[in-house]
Parts: sequence; C-alpha cells; structure tokens
Amino acid sequence: MSKVMIIGCGGVASVAIHKCCQNSEVFSEIMIASRTLSKCDALKEKLAPTTKTIITTAKVDADCTEELIALIKQYQPDAVLNLALPYQDLTIMDACLACKVPYIDTANYEAENTDDPAWRAIYEKRCEELGFSAYFDYSWQWAYMDRFKQAGITGLLGTGFDPGVTSVFAAYAQKHYFDEIHTIDILDCNGGDHGYPFATNFNPEINLREVSAPGSYWENGHWVEIPPMSIKREYNFDEVGEKDMYLLHHEEIEALAKNIPGVKRIRFFMTFGQSYLTHMKCLENVGLLSTTPITFNGQQIVPIQFLKELLPDPSTLGPRTVGKTNIGCIFTGIKDGKERSIYIYNVCDHQECYREVESQAISYTTGVPAMIGTMMVVNGPWNKPGVYTTDEFDPDPYMEALNKWGLPWKVVENPVLVD
Ligand code: NDP
Repeated sequence: MSKVMIIGCGGVASVAIHKCCQNSEVFSEIMIASRTLSKCDALKEKLAPTTKTIITTAKVDADCTEELIALIKQYQPDAVLNLALPYQDLTIMDACLACKVPYIDTANYEAENTDDPAWRAIYEKRCEELGFSAYFDYSWQWAYMDRFKQAGITGLLGTGFDPGVTSVFAAYAQKHYFDEIHTIDILDCNGGDHGYPFATNFNPEINLREVSAPGSYWENGHWVEIPPMSIKREYNFDEVGEKDMYLLHHEEIEALAKNIPGVKRIRFFMTFGQSYLTHMKCLENVGLLSTTPITFNGQQIVPIQFLKELLPDPSTLGPRTVGKTNIGCIFTGIKDGKERSIYIYNVCDHQECYREVESQAISYTTGVPAMIGTMMVVNGPWNKPGVYTTDEFDPDPYMEALNKWGLPWKVVENPVLVD
C-alpha cells in the first residue's frame, strides 16, 4: 500500500498511471498533478471506474518549488514520480528534499534556457572537462547525493527504458553472466510506422534536442565526440528486421562508465529512417530547432517550442502506429576465463500497447519502468538514501517485474556484434 504523487500528465505519465491503476495493491492512492488540470481530470474519469486505486488530481506548476512543497505537504505522499519534463527535475528534487519524500524520474536534468549565462558557464566548463557537449548530464542531480542521504530519502534517477531498463540489463549481466564486462552496445530500434511524414514519439522538444546534438561514446576512460549522425551501422533486429542505426550521446553511458568496473567501451545507437533524418536536417537548417527566443510580430517565441505546436502530439500516435520496438544491450566480456557475449532485449508491439493502455510503444516502454521503479522504492528493495541510477541496485526484482508488467525480455548468447 502506498500513496504516490505523479507529476505530469503527458504520453509517458498516462501509461505509468494506467499501470499504477492495474497495480492497486502497491499503488493504493495516487495524485495526478500537472500543469493542465483538465488532462488530469479526464484521465481520472476514464480510469476511476476500472481500478481500486484512489485517484485525486491537482494543478501544479512544477517550475515553482514553493508550489510543489505546498502540494506535497497537503497530500503527504510516500514518493513523488516526476513525469513532467527534464527541465523540472531540480525544482521537484528541491521540493522532495524539503519535505523528505523519495524522488523518482525518467530523464536527467536539462536546462530549458541554454542561453542563461550562469548555466552556460557551468556547461562550458563541463564540456571542456568531460569532453561531451550534450545539454544534459548527471552532475546536477548527483550533486544532491549528500543532501538526500542526510534527509534519509532515495532519489532514483532515470527509470524509463533507456535510460532505465538498459542499465538494469547491465547490472543483471554483471551479476549473472560476466566476471568482467568489456563492451556495452545499447541498441534502440523503433520499427513502428505512424503514417505521418514527420512526428516524434515523445516530447518533440526533448527528442529533437537529443537527436540533433553531436554523438559521443565512452572508450578507454574518456569520451569521444563525433558530429551528429556521423557513425551509421546496419543491424538485423529480432521481430523487426534490418534497420539503419546511428550513434548518439545518451545519458546512461555516463552512469554505466562510472558504475561498471573495467568497462572499456560503451556506445548507444538509435534507428532512424532516411525521411526522418531529411526532415530533421531541413528543420535544423531553417532554424526551427533553435532554443534561442526570437521576436515575431512583437512577441517572443522559442522556435523549437513553436515547432512542437505544429507537430502531431505524441500521445495521439497510438491508434495509428503499427510495428514493433526492439530495445536492448549487447554485452561482451569474460566469464570463468572465457570470452562471452550476450544480448538482452525486449520486443514491444505498438498495437498491443494501444489495446492495453491506449498508447504507442515508446510511451509504454517508458511508463511501465517508471511504475516499476517507483514500486521498487515504495516497497523497499530499492530504498537507499542518496541519489542513484538503476544500475546501482539489485536488478533481480526489477527484471522479474518487467516480465510481470508487460515488458518481457530475452537473453541470447553469441549475438551478431556491432562493428
Ligand atoms: P509530454 O510532453 O507528453 O508530457 C509532459 C507532461 O509534463 C505534460 O503533461 C505537461 O503538461 C507536463 N508539464 C510540463 N511542464 C510542466 C510544469 N512546469 N509543471 C507541471 N507540469 C508540466 O512528455 P512525455 O510524456 O513524452 O515525456 C515525459 C518524460 O519522459 C520526459 O522527461 C522525457 O524526457 C521522458 N522520457 C524518458 C524516456 C526513457 O526511456 N527514459 C523515453 C521517453 C521520454 P501539459 O499537459 O500542460 O503540456
């Protein structure tokens, strides 16, 4: 039995809330708190007749720590699950700290205004010191470690699929399959088709910022950065088929490099079709991916936020998306003195997800692990004061829960490796 406050009511939150309502024994009470109250109320109205979970709703501006503190004090939750945007991570962590309530999210902190001089000075120093230029990194949230320890509360960072499940796969491989892991290739394949010329599968602003940035990977103790989309490979994915995939920077690399002892190389690849890349390049070339405000007809607008308004809302893609995702990790290393390689992955069908929770598989593969991570914290097995990523806990109960709650996984020995 637990009482959880869920912040945000978009594509991922909707799935996580559906799954909490299927799991009323653990989630006996939830509050859906977001910027647009009508969305929270509509979801409550839909789910309340189908579940024993008691649902309440509230309007909150998660950029405002004081507002969050007041709401947390009023509701008294056992944990706060942040499914708003990465921009709100720190304000929500501050509120959790002030109220001594555990904090859980699915994406690491990213500054909304990348032109802010104070933020930029820290960012530029980090680019120079660490060698990658993504706008997001773990340093902001890892800085809460001592304060969370002192407050006696858990901060679970990045419990989506990637990051999230992919890092649990790494902990599971380390625990059961290897004495030493040498390389990790994280492969994120979306073989789904929504029929639109161009749309993103989760929040367009966050998604386009991520994929248009330079790629990078971890090798022999340091970062190697490359121009965007400049490393391409082909891979034949189980149940999806042959796809082009491109090397991207991704946040779990940073945590895995720290937490998997002796790892020599970590890379992240995501599949994209040529049409997606051509659209994205064009939008970038005309300035529509820019985060710098411009004046239009006397009004300030941020180009990428304007673009988000033009693109299909990811939460509406569900009914029209067909095909499957295949996301997992290929590990190579040593076990009992012999070389070993395995591939751990999940395949998820867009239409099956839609039938179950009225959502496509990208939100599903993120929302289910968000519910599972929260369950790990409120039920106890992953309750540990401090701030941690999902590779820092016992993976077994989480892996069991994936099988039970809709994301079954397979382990294949001797997979085809990525060169
Ligand atoms: P959406 O844009 O669909 O939903 C975001 C929600 O947050 C909306 O309901 C929005 O409100 C709400 N929100 C935004 N700003 C505020 C604010 N200041 N105060 C209160 N509520 C706010 O995004 P997604 O559901 O696609 O993504 C949610 C999170 O999941 C993101 O952090 C994303 O990066 C992460 N993610 C993680 C993945 C993983 O595998 N780890 C994969 C995919 C996504 P409104 O309804 O008014 O717009």
